[in-house]
Amino acid sequence: MVYVAAQDRYEQMLYNRVGASGLKLPAISLGLWNNFGETDSLDNQRAMLQRAFDLGITHFDLANNYGPPAGAAEENFGYILKKDFQSYRDELIISTKAGFHMWEGPYGDWGSKKYLVSSLDQSLKRMGLDYVDIFYHHRPDPETPLEETMATLDLMVKQGKALYVGISNYDAEQSKKAIAILTEQKTPFVIHQASYSMFNRWIEDGLIKVLEDAQAGAIAFIPLAQGLLTNKYLKGIPEDSRAAKAHIPFLNKKDISEDRLEKVVKLNKLAQERGQSLAQLALAWVLRKQVVASALIGASRVSQIEDNVNAVKKLEFTQSELDQIEKVLSD
Ligand code: NDP
Repeated sequence: MVYVAAQDRYEQMLYNRVGASGLKLPAISLGLWNNFGETDSLDNQRAMLQRAFDLGITHFDLANNYGPPAGAAEENFGYILKKDFQSYRDELIISTKAGFHMWEGPYGDWGSKKYLVSSLDQSLKRMGLDYVDIFYHHRPDPETPLEETMATLDLMVKQGKALYVGISNYDAEQSKKAIAILTEQKTPFVIHQASYSMFNRWIEDGLIKVLEDAQAGAIAFIPLAQGLLTNKYLKGIPEDSRAAKAHIPFLNKKDISEDRLEKVVKLNKLAQERGQSLAQLALAWVLRKQVVASALIGASRVSQIEDNVNAVKKLEFTQSELDQIEKVLSD
């Protein structure tokens, strides 16, 4: 069937400016790290992307190595893009990244010009795109001079293969240096993709200040702690959950500790008192920081996207609610 996007797709979502740039992102963005690989149902992938766009999610985040196997998510996305979203390309912000292992030999990893240029060309081919909207260097490279990596981002923008560039997983000090180099090259530094959730607050310790000083923005990844900050694990580990899937090494049964679950139960109660789901509370909480333009979620089914998008209906917190959350997190 031919996909026609919902007429009312821009009525509910909020679009936040990224720092002082011209770029706006939906408050909720969708990442394709999980559930868009070779063995995941293509129908489900398609349904999730369509529903996300119908609900105002204009930003899809990928990376060269998303799969499995590496590259599969970009291929699947390219296939669905061609089928369903061709006429909506100008309504979409599509990002990709390179920085982790992608192919054998000395040129398939880290941050050299050789790796990044080749990788972006491969990503464009897999997705069937002329350009990506955002390209990120995925993680800092301790060996390649930062000047070379940043000059490569500058080159991508000058070549028109990326409209905006950003970095990911750089700490505050590394970010400051990268931003200084880009500023010197007159390539605007726009966005930092950083992990941030109620269970992982490292960006509050320096990075936020660096980004604010640079008038840049952030997009917060793993805002739901891979599903822990939802009602998913309240009654044990469901069979079809990420934690139960043996091939995913990033969320293990041992991560779902008694201590964590106790906090999740208390947070769930606070969410109920606010009239929202725990996932919605967790997303609103990362978005309370002005610097965070978007919360970058993952999903395994349409209903999760629907639940998460409704976070924008209640983003504000009273001081008392924030204090109660702090108490739960610090207990
Ligand atoms: P989340 O913290 O949003 O976790 C997503 C998972 O939580 C889903 O797969 C699902 O688990 C569960 N979930 C989501 N919504 C709900 C809901 N409403 N109710 C119940 N369960 C729910 O983020 P991810 O870990 O998926 O990461 C998001 C994106 O961040 C990635 O796709 C990627 O784009 C980006 N990222 C970037 C990194 C970087 O280095 N730059 C690193 C990691 C991620 P289940 O599958 O079990 O149903």
